[in-house]
Amino acid sequence: MAYQISDECISCGVCKDNCPADAISEGDGQYVIDADKCIDCGACESNCPVGAPKAQ
Ligand code: SF4
Ligand code: SF4
Repeated sequence: MAYQISDECISCGVCKDNCPADAISEGDGQYVIDADKCIDCGACESNCPVGAPKAQ
């Protein structure tokens, strides 16, 4: 299980700055989550202004 960012992402960077596992990075056109690093804390989903991170 890991969170995944959908294409609703507007690349604001808020989730990256608040991820305790440093699992989020800027990808091509949207931010992406490294599933091997994500600890399923849910902070990205809570902080995202557009609800792009979703639990898989
Ligand atoms: Fe980072 Fe937590 Fe989001 Fe996983 S669920 S990407 S650990 S903020
Ligand atoms: Fe994209 Fe949401 Fe992360 Fe901003 S907080 S970079 S909109 S996933």
